[in-house]
Amino acid sequence: MSFPSFFALIPAAGVGARMGSTTPKQYASLAGKPMPQHVIDTFASAPEIEHTYIVVSPADGYMDALHVPVRCTVLRCGGDTRAASVTNGLAAIAPQVAPDDWVLVHDAARPGLTADLIGKLIAFAKDDPVGGLLALPVVDTIKRSNGHSHVADTVSREHLWAAQTPQMFRHGALLSALRDATHKGYGVTDEASAMEAAGLQPKLIEGSPRNFKVTLPEDLPIAELYLRGSP
Ligand code: C5P
Repeated sequence: MSFPSFFALIPAAGVGARMGSTTPKQYASLAGKPMPQHVIDTFASAPEIEHTYIVVSPADGYMDALHVPVRCTVLRCGGDTRAASVTNGLAAIAPQVAPDDWVLVHDAARPGLTADLIGKLIAFAKDDPVGGLLALPVVDTIKRSNGHSHVADTVSREHLWAAQTPQMFRHGALLSALRDATHKGYGVTDEASAMEAAGLQPKLIEGSPRNFKVTLPEDLPIAELYLRGSP
């Protein structure tokens, strides 16, 4: 085993309220298999990844339908928020992972991830002192609303990026940054925000439109097109 090693952690304990379905969004079926199966299979096919951990709710009744490969473990320690699910997962794997090992945290709801994107993130972030994340430069003109469906102002898109996942940080640093952010009451919605709250500057690495987060029912056919188009 080389040092440091690379691990994947997939938070999959969300309810997906915006999907408007009785099945949690992360279990919607796409291109013949449930969404998390795509992500599990992609990490299993990435040669750099030592082991993959998937975090589900303690009461999850869907995971049993998935095929969990040898180098993958299901953790039933999901929390009320994404940050809580990731924090619980990181704490649960602490006995198996060294503080300096890298953990790639990836949303179960981004089934378009490929092994090439994982390789690109690792190649560009592994020599960074902090770590990094996949993201896309913002191409649209950005408006801030006044809270009542009218424009308050236009935000310059210069230097703006939309964060994706995986987000790759060292296990020890990420766990303590998430715990600190939670303790201080910051509502962090990704790992990079927790690292930023600790005064660090994660590296931005260009991702891909196919790695978008499946959120609304109308996202499903678009994700399906990307997945059926892949080799
Ligand atoms: O809710 P959001 O779209 O930000 O979810 C992103 C990812 O975080 C999804 O894969 C979802 O299953 C996961 N999540 C979680 N625990 C929560 C909420 C979301 O693992 N309490």
